Amino acid sequence: MELRDNFHRVIDYLRISITDRCNLRCIYCMPASGVRPLEHKEILTYEEVLRVVRVAATLGVRKIRLTGGEPLTRKNLTYLVASLKKIAGIEDMSLTTNGILLEKYARELADAGLDRVNVSLDSLRPDRFREMTRGGEISAVLRGIEAAEKAGLMPIKINMVPIRGLNGDEIEEFARMTLDTAYHVRFIEFMPIGAKDFWSDKRYISTNETKALVEKIGPLSPVRLRRNGPARYFRFDSAPGVIGFISALTHHFCGDCNRLRITADGKLRPCLFSETEIDLKPALRGSSSEEEIERLLRLSMEVKPEGHTINRSEGIRGEEHASGGSFPRALKPMSRIGG
Ligand code: SAM
Ligand code: SF4
Repeated sequence: MELRDNFHRVIDYLRISITDRCNLRCIYCMPASGVRPLEHKEILTYEEVLRVVRVAATLGVRKIRLTGGEPLTRKNLTYLVASLKKIAGIEDMSLTTNGILLEKYARELADAGLDRVNVSLDSLRPDRFREMTRGGEISAVLRGIEAAEKAGLMPIKINMVPIRGLNGDEIEEFARMTLDTAYHVRFIEFMPIGAKDFWSDKRYISTNETKALVEKIGPLSPVRLRRNGPARYFRFDSAPGVIGFISALTHHFCGDCNRLRITADGKLRPCLFSETEIDLKPALRGSSSEEEIERLLRLSMEVKPEGHTINRSEGIRGEEHASGGSFPRALKPMSRIGG
């Protein structure tokens, strides 16, 4: 059995936001005051998450990523990871984190069955990191990455969102990390989602521009990884690490989409950029059968859009979008949807 949408994409990847809370306040993701938190009773319990995943696994879901908010701030995460890993069919368990608490948890999560981590890191300069995250200490993240490596959570993926006027001048420095580490350094296009009014076409840097800067260091050759997902990977000659580009706005993003999201408050969200959601909570909290959960998962395939409506052509032209254009301005905070 499989989950297949109306555009023949097979969905085998579930991205689950387990909390909307975060220990940082990245300026492009949240306002300084944070986002009004969900009430605890709104957030799915671990047993509810496990129940959905058990059904999803019977429908061909093989890969789980836990995200948030900051997933490492949720209590007993190790229990959830260990329980998810025991579900028949789940082959790959990963986590997206800001890395602040990773040093503390890397080993126990690896022992519980976590396969990999993606660490979000937008600047290598302590002052700038503090400014971008509104108070984060980069030394904690770097220790977290080291601990993850030691715990065998490989490959380490570093996600960087280049933003003009903020950290755009560090693109080359990040790319150079792949010359002497086996990290996967991935550049993610800045998306018009998250902190209201922070996104602007002036701050946006397209993948083409990022890649041109990286290529100043040396030529890149394409790399085919086992599961590329939405990223396109390249490598410098004989470099141990690889460089990925995730072009949410400009290129080939939606055609390869193999994922479905569950928000922290238990909504199935077939597309990051679409407000269409299917509430799982009534089924999970009532006396519904597993068949009802399966029906909702299948329903999400019916409503999964072919692609987002944000300009997909080369770059973004400000005038076109200044009026609101096709940008989904009313999107929920990224911390609640699960980035
Ligand atoms: N707190 C964890 C972290 O930062 O890795 C997980 C949640 S965070 C919302 C997941 C990812 O979303 C991060 O890599 C972050 O950089 C990214 N993100 C948030 N807002 C974004 C935006 N407007 N454009 C692109 N990426 C964004
Ligand atoms: Fe928190 Fe991640 Fe958003 Fe930064 S990007 S505020 S770490 S959820």
